[in-house]
Amino acid sequence: MRFATPCVFAAALTLALPAFAQAPASPYSTTKVADNVYQFRAGGYLSMFVVSPEGVIVADPIGFADPKAPAAYLAEIRKITQAPVKYVIYSHHHYDHASGGKVFKDQGAVFVAHHNAHRRLAALRNPDVVMPDMVVEDSGSTIQLGGMRVDLLWVGNNHSDNTLVMLLPKERVLYAVDWLPIQAIMYRDMPDGHVPDWFAGIDRVLAMDWDRMIPGHPGPGGRLGSKEDVRAVRDYLTDVSNAAKQLAAEKKCLNDEAMRAVKLPKYENWGGYGAYLFGNVERFCEYWARGV
Ligand SMILES: [Zn+2]
Repeated sequence: MRFATPCVFAAALTLALPAFAQAPASPYSTTKVADNVYQFRAGGYLSMFVVSPEGVIVADPIGFADPKAPAAYLAEIRKITQAPVKYVIYSHHHYDHASGGKVFKDQGAVFVAHHNAHRRLAALRNPDVVMPDMVVEDSGSTIQLGGMRVDLLWVGNNHSDNTLVMLLPKERVLYAVDWLPIQAIMYRDMPDGHVPDWFAGIDRVLAMDWDRMIPGHPGPGGRLGSKEDVRAVRDYLTDVSNAAKQLAAEKKCLNDEAMRAVKLPKYENWGGYGAYLFGNVERFCEYWARGV
């Protein structure tokens, strides 16, 4: 009963708005995260860029779901600086994040990725993905440009075998894509994912000095992530793993009905819970029941 008044008020407010008041919202937006550090959003995708007088460092071009996004991305950068884009760094090789870098290549940017990303892209030869010019070894690397520093860190296999996290030590900001989603279930059956290595990478990221995380896909309300969110990912994966381990012990793994019966109500408000929990259980069932 006590919600009645706000609901009536909301309905009246909606009716009061003229039909032409709601122009279609642009799918593109840029938000300042720290001095000289920004996130660029194109629909359901996020990238990060770092500005200095000597040039700009861009993370993923995010041109797969929306091929116009990279040009819009460059236009957003140009609202802030005319400095050249010096580097494009792939968080990992998956096309939905790495596609569309041509507009930055045409500006003379150097493309950087983990060596496994280079190897896999060289085999795949997708024409929409610019090949990396430089590779990062497992020991990591650092880009320093015009007083800005970005550490490129490989923390083991997780959502791919070539995920780099980008750490800005001065600003205490981390950019991490797809393997540490904010309050979201992992995509489908965690394709290209490495179980159980994921957990060790989470512990390495939690041991680093940072306060805020830019994800590859917007979190609830578009908020940034925190270490609390990363711990929640670890808890979630642990709970899925334990549920699958139990199924395996009961010889019920890879039985669709049994895997679909797994519920983890603690996470039912997370994005993708209804659609993807089954796939996540299946992935851990493959691990516990077959060692895959
Ligand atoms: Zn991915």
